[in-house]
Amino acid sequence: MARTSKKQTALKFRGEWEYAPAPESKDHIRLEKKYGLFINGKFSEPRSGKYFDSVNPADETLLASVAEAGAEDVDLAVTAARSAYEKTWSKMPARERGKYIYRIARLMQERARELAIIESMDGGKPIRESRDIDIPLAAAHFFYYAGWADKLEYAVPGRTAGPLGVAGQIIPWNFPLLMAAWKIAPALAAGNTVVIKPAETTPLTALKLAEIIRDADLPSGVVNIITGAGSTGSALVNHPGIQKVAFTGSTEVGKMIQKTLAGTDKKYTLELGGKAANIIFEDAAIDQAVEGIINGIFFNQGHVCCAGSRLFVQEPVAAKVIRKLKDRMETLLVGDPLDKNTDVGAINSKAQLDKIHKYLKIGVNEGGEMYQTSCKLPSRGFWCRPTLFTDVSQSSRIVQEEIFGPVLSVQTFRTVEEAIEKANNIPYGLSGGVWTDKGSKIFRVTSQIRAGVIWANTYNKFDPVSPFGGYKESGMGREGGLHGLLPYIQTYSN
Ligand code: NAP
Ligand code: MG
Repeated sequence: MARTSKKQTALKFRGEWEYAPAPESKDHIRLEKKYGLFINGKFSEPRSGKYFDSVNPADETLLASVAEAGAEDVDLAVTAARSAYEKTWSKMPARERGKYIYRIARLMQERARELAIIESMDGGKPIRESRDIDIPLAAAHFFYYAGWADKLEYAVPGRTAGPLGVAGQIIPWNFPLLMAAWKIAPALAAGNTVVIKPAETTPLTALKLAEIIRDADLPSGVVNIITGAGSTGSALVNHPGIQKVAFTGSTEVGKMIQKTLAGTDKKYTLELGGKAANIIFEDAAIDQAVEGIINGIFFNQGHVCCAGSRLFVQEPVAAKVIRKLKDRMETLLVGDPLDKNTDVGAINSKAQLDKIHKYLKIGVNEGGEMYQTSCKLPSRGFWCRPTLFTDVSQSSRIVQEEIFGPVLSVQTFRTVEEAIEKANNIPYGLSGGVWTDKGSKIFRVTSQIRAGVIWANTYNKFDPVSPFGGYKESGMGREGGLHGLLPYIQTYSN
């Protein structure tokens, strides 16, 4: 059957076998019209007097007005965290600290459905993902690090471990609650207190987490959640009262933060951008690989630092893989994030959609062959069709730069060496994937790719016990597991 007629068949099939809508109910969701800053255990109006809007990117409706912390507010939050550190948290028996962290995890589980729905409303990701991945993993991180609280001596055998003080933490919009969990849980387990700033477009689950922290009776000031934009983040990084900065976001901002911190005694970890290579060898289980590639790039609209945005296919199977990818892309359901059938939700913001469109133009202008699925997009909100580029070169900007959208570029290779060389020829090194039937090839390729995480015959698998982080411009330091605990402790000789 000719290629175009396959696509028509897929469309016809879709028309005849349309899934009935299965929207998640949001009747029970309670959002305040206006949210203050969570400082010293309670919500309060910002001294700055300023607020900004958080909208639903799927329909551009206003969800809530949120306080914008100014320098004075940041100072209040850091002062509250310092006082809680000195008076309560660092003095509390470690077992008691652990109990509080467990309690937060349990309360998150109790409110999991509500958190998942708010995550999808505020950020645009499909409910299937927020329900099955973001929220359970966020709770799992709190459970995992709660277990470490009274075992710090085992983290650094032969030495005594202690906290650093106040941690200033800044997170992005792609996994809002999960990133908050990655940051807060290890900091608390090690005995630090926290001031955290969520991203401007997705502050709502962090504010719900503030309610949970309050309900868990965590001593006031141990966790402070301050909303705002880049200037709030910058004021936090520059505040002299913090001892540690943990940042997840773009390489551009990460580099600025690193410059700011040079010469200070603040410790820092940076989790930055990525441009992962997925490599399919001719001996791979092709259908399984295609499913993994689709998951790797279209999952969460490609708003994933470890998204498999570059695909390298061994030449003999390239035509087959590309045809299968296009067929599978055509069946992806793009639309309402709250619909349980949805595969690809809304792009997080207008600014991010503009950035993706800019790259699509660059890709075409550079001579790439662009393929987009034919799905109908909703009339309101921010949407992008799943997109695939062929005929791209190693130097193409869409191959070298992080797009952070549902855009996959495909290149071919002949030998294992060529695949490794092409995969490594990039400033980033966060993650990667290899698809092959041969265990020996897996070991050879994974040991030579300069990336923090490499999946074999699967993709995007996470667990609180596994460390995660980048090589090269993808950052420094690790989060998750024992590795994620160490940046929050200092050690003394016994
Ligand atoms: P971003 O623009 O760098 O923002 C990240 C956070 O930093 C946001 O809270 C942002 O606030 C804040 N910020 C902006 N300017 C700042 C400044 N000058 N000083 C201090 N803080 C500042 O990144 P993004 O667009 O939100 O997120 C996407 C990026 O995150 C991608 O590059 C992705 O690869 C990366 N990421 C990495 C990982 C990882 O583990 N390596 C995980 C997830 C995402 P506002 O949003 O309010 O402006
Ligand atoms: Mg929003």
